[in-house]
Amino acid sequence: MAVLWLDEVRSDDLETVGGKAASLGELTAAGLPVPPGFVVTAGTYRTFIEEAEIDEELFEAVDVDSEDSKALAGAHERAHELIMETPFPEDVAQEILEAYRSIDDGEAFVAVRSSATAEDLPDASFAGQQETFLNVREDDLLQRVKECWASLFSQRAIYYRNQKGFAHDKVDIAVVVQRMVDAEKSGVMFTSHPSTGEPRIIIEAAWGLGEAVVSGAVSPDNYVVNRATQRTEDVTVADKKLMHVKDAETGETVERAVPDERREERVLSDEEIARLVDLGEEVERHYGQPQDVEWAIYDGEVYMLQSRPITTISDTAVSNVENVSGSGTSDAAVDGEGGSGNGQAAVGEVVVRGLGASPGIASGPARVVTKLDHLDQVAEGDIIVTEMTMPDMVPAMKRAAGIVTDEGGMTSHAAIVSRELGVPAVVGCGSATRQLEDGQPITIDGDKGTIREGVESKEKQRQPVEDARPKTPVKPMTATEVKVNVSIPEAAERAAATGADGVGLLRIEHMVLSLGKTPERFISDNGERAYVDEIIEGVRTVADEFYPRPVRVRTLDAPSDEFRQLQGGEDVPREHNPMLGYRGIRRSLGNPSVFKLELEAFRRLYDMGYDNLEVMFPLVNDAEEVIRARQHMKEAGIDPEKREWGVMIETPASALQVGAMAEAGIDFASFGTNDLTQYTLAVDRNNENVASVYDELHPAVLELIGSTIETCREHGVKTSICGQAGSKPKMVQYLVESGVSSISANIDAVRDVQHEVKRVEQRLLLDSVR
Ligand code: PEP
Ligand code: MG
Repeated sequence: MAVLWLDEVRSDDLETVGGKAASLGELTAAGLPVPPGFVVTAGTYRTFIEEAEIDEELFEAVDVDSEDSKALAGAHERAHELIMETPFPEDVAQEILEAYRSIDDGEAFVAVRSSATAEDLPDASFAGQQETFLNVREDDLLQRVKECWASLFSQRAIYYRNQKGFAHDKVDIAVVVQRMVDAEKSGVMFTSHPSTGEPRIIIEAAWGLGEAVVSGAVSPDNYVVNRATQRTEDVTVADKKLMHVKDAETGETVERAVPDERREERVLSDEEIARLVDLGEEVERHYGQPQDVEWAIYDGEVYMLQSRPITTISDTAVSNVENVSGSGTSDAAVDGEGGSGNGQAAVGEVVVRGLGASPGIASGPARVVTKLDHLDQVAEGDIIVTEMTMPDMVPAMKRAAGIVTDEGGMTSHAAIVSRELGVPAVVGCGSATRQLEDGQPITIDGDKGTIREGVESKEKQRQPVEDARPKTPVKPMTATEVKVNVSIPEAAERAAATGADGVGLLRIEHMVLSLGKTPERFISDNGERAYVDEIIEGVRTVADEFYPRPVRVRTLDAPSDEFRQLQGGEDVPREHNPMLGYRGIRRSLGNPSVFKLELEAFRRLYDMGYDNLEVMFPLVNDAEEVIRARQHMKEAGIDPEKREWGVMIETPASALQVGAMAEAGIDFASFGTNDLTQYTLAVDRNNENVASVYDELHPAVLELIGSTIETCREHGVKTSICGQAGSKPKMVQYLVESGVSSISANIDAVRDVQHEVKRVEQRLLLDSVR
């Protein structure tokens, strides 16, 4: 049997049909209305390569040094050719075509989707790895099935399996062939509230095919139904400008304007809501946990296209919901009151103050760390109290419940890393290491910047994790893109979960500094290849998580004092003021042997298919530096005409010279306001003594930003912000009003920034018609 019908498949058939088909089969078997279809099983693929005797050649062809990009490209080409040029055995071809013909008498448009059997390789299938084809008919069907099989051997897939040590011959692939639903209306449904877990069904709906809602291209209607009373409590009808429909002639999905009279018409009738709610209850009951469902309505019938567990409900939210179940608002559900409860010292006076650098409230014993070799004393749940954090402290920072530092401002290492890890932090406290005693129970508030004595009740402690998660199911649609900043690859998953439009700044300093050696020392001890590999590994973790959303990766920018603390740091000259010293592009241009290895890492990532990467140069002053950097990029084999690249605007000089840089070919300019502020106002960003005069909203800083945006618009260069100020509502307002193209915020701020951007955009629209 080359094929199995979906109603013959169950979730434990993962090995035979892959994850996607197993889940569709399970839904079909549960009696839920899934469009009809079948699966070309993984066994069929295996028999195909074995009986045609191409298996050995195939696996040999892909057994290459995947660091060698030419060999990798050759391997992919050979594998693709072997599969595409080997004819289907006649009986298998007939079985597939017969199955197709029994869906709608052979006239159906079907979706052909890869469904990899990655059971024992939990990460083996990652974004963008395997093919999907829409609107396929009989003529192309067999070709498309083979193309799905061949997508097991894309360059990225080969590289990935080699890196992870997975054998190529152990992964199989099944293919789902399923009737496409020519939806009149479609959307998503959350069978419980996606962040609080409350018993409310949330439905988003728009006209036409579902892609418009899932991809966020349209703001959908929103319906909230109370599951206990079955009442629709809230209906928000959106202005739906766009819809995706199937072109009657070509069968392709095209974008169309919604006719005026339907734009503000409510999509779902009460009966349709009731039908969806019934299905939602049924699917949640079937799986025993809240589900995120894609649905479509065609000719009066509701279809379920996909169902996945909701992973964004936090455990705290769930237990609080259980406590207050049925009591009403989400605020009540999240805040659930509780006494101090655990018999420990109740929280008392504020003993130390600093800057609230990473939101959340945490209690635990203070662990005063003055030497690096004390780090192993940091246990799960401790609060690290230290002068300043360093890259090699990250494992301990992950274990900690909170972070307190004597030094540093809002853009210091401690602040950036704790925000990305989702650990509450208070920085720049002056003398916390002296004022707090090792083992003393304390409570830190990363919003207010306070440290109090004693332990807060569990209920009142609050990790910022849930703040990073979408609070509404579908992100607000904005014309200005909202991206996210990432500094440690470990934060990539959390960053991607924000629904951001990409990464506006990926710093590679952390990857480099955490090697514990200066780049020069690391290279002399381990070789150039190892250095390039380290960068590839870190960048790839983020690029995978976001693919195909763009990831703007920045070349190295660490000040000399940070290098001096590493092995090999004794060879780095001591600088009187490292912030004004040998860092950013000037260090890269002055030390091309290391710079060229960074660029080589980016080039290899492009060769592997990471076409979502963009290259950004830090701390440039003028077009001459930009032209030199571009030349290095070319020499490394990166074509500046083909790839997106640009600069950071971090010095007044760069803001004043941006016109000449535009002529040098940059595609974008991104405001690094952490530096732009310190260089405009002559205020050291890491010096807590002058923190009160450090003001990113200072009129001088805003004027430089405003004029840069204007010049860039004249030259067709995109603008963005990736400094900390991009997370501040006032800066967001100013930038959107000035016409910035995108804003990149901290993980915990993305959702608020999306809302703020939308609010400002709507106000601008309203103002323009009033
Ligand atoms: C900036 O200067 O605003 C910036 C984003 O870069 P960094 O904080 O890494 O200097
Ligand atoms: Mg900077």
